[in-house]
Amino acid sequence: MWNCYLCDEVTCYTTYFCKDCNYIKRILQCYGREEIKDIITKVCIRNKQQRENKVDILKKKLDNQKLDHLKVKLIDAENELD
Ligand SMILES: [Zn+2]
Repeated sequence: MWNCYLCDEVTCYTTYFCKDCNYIKRILQCYGREEIKDIITKVCIRNKQQRENKVDILKKKLDNQKLDHLKVKLIDAENELD
């Protein structure tokens, strides 16, 4: 009994990899290590500019939600006046 050799989170009894990591391993074997490394780097790793873009998008989304909330309050107030 030991932890999965890849995620180190799941206890394994008969294999080195847990079910999820074995799935990942099979994909890696299909596409090759370099291809998977490129995909993970492009998709999961963000540079500083990408992180700042994400923060800006979240800030705008939050501002829009506040505006939407205010619009709903205005509509509710108008309906109460009618
Ligand atoms: Zn695992």
